[in-house]
Amino acid sequence: MLNGKKHWITGGGVSRLHLIFAKVFDEDGNFEGVGGFLAIRDETEGLEIVKREPTMGLRGIPEAEIEFNDMQLPPSALVMPPRGLKKGFADLMTAYNSQRVGAGTVALGIMEGAYELALDWTEEREQFGRPINEFQGVQWNLADMSIRIAAAQALIYKAAESGRDGFPDMVMAAQAKIYTSENAIQVVNEALQLFGARGYSRNLPLERMARDVRMFTIGGGTAEVLRNVVASGLLQKKLPQTRDGYSKLAAKAAE
Ligand SMILES: Cc1cc2nc3c(=O)[nH]c(=O)nc-3n(C[C@H](O)[C@H](O)[C@H](O)COP(=O)(O)OP(=O)(O)OC[C@H]3O[C@@H](n4cnc5c(N)ncnc54)[C@H](O)[C@@H]3O)c2cc1C
Repeated sequence: MLNGKKHWITGGGVSRLHLIFAKVFDEDGNFEGVGGFLAIRDETEGLEIVKREPTMGLRGIPEAEIEFNDMQLPPSALVMPPRGLKKGFADLMTAYNSQRVGAGTVALGIMEGAYELALDWTEEREQFGRPINEFQGVQWNLADMSIRIAAAQALIYKAAESGRDGFPDMVMAAQAKIYTSENAIQVVNEALQLFGARGYSRNLPLERMARDVRMFTIGGGTAEVLRNVVASGLLQKKLPQTRDGYSKLAAKAAE
């Protein structure tokens, strides 16, 4: 039986199948680890879609709050058994490396789209009797945007390639997502600026891009927490974030 709630579930309420990760306890109340369960919308009793979050962007994809009220889970629903204390969660995090490369790829697509709009517009728009791309300030802007895009592409392709035989490498996936998500925000913002007042209007896709792209430093692991992931991989150390985490680690090392 499962009880609890989960916020910000992408596709919640629309997807039929829900894969739910939850703590598993045996009949005596001993913690067995984190397991993965399948539940089916409108069929599994106790699975309730509570509300849709009003997001600033990416409005084509719903984000739902889901409640589990005495949700009955037969043994056949357990698709990922709890494996030891933290293994189930670790498996989930490994699978997340694909999601991170995927999210970075969407951010990359948005930044490329914004850049292409800016490239065309700066040729078309004339001020002081010249296309605005004849001003060096604008040229350097376009050059910087293209550099950010090229670097993001390299990181995304490298991370994706690392997952050829399984899931992408944890550090590469995190590096790619951090860089791409942060620079996509920057490039969209710069493109919007190059459109002047038109960029601030809702007539152009840029305002939507600016709202959509803002998500990617947050969902799927924030840019800050992913920096912890990168550092942990580089230093080959666990970097506990809880107050007592370091003392527990030290005590374990002393054993
Ligand atoms: C559009 C969207 C879709 C999402 N889809 C899903 C989904 O399908 N499934 C799902 O499970 N979740 C989903 N999420 C949730 C998302 O994973 C979380 O929002 C994200 O991990 C951040 O958690 P939080 O919102 O609780 O922020 P918090 O953890 O409260 O963070 C607040 C701030 O503190 C910073 N911070 C927190 N801890 C640290 C630390 N140790 N070091 C440095 N800085 C820190 C964060 O970086 C952030 O800036 C989605 C979110 C969004 C916006």
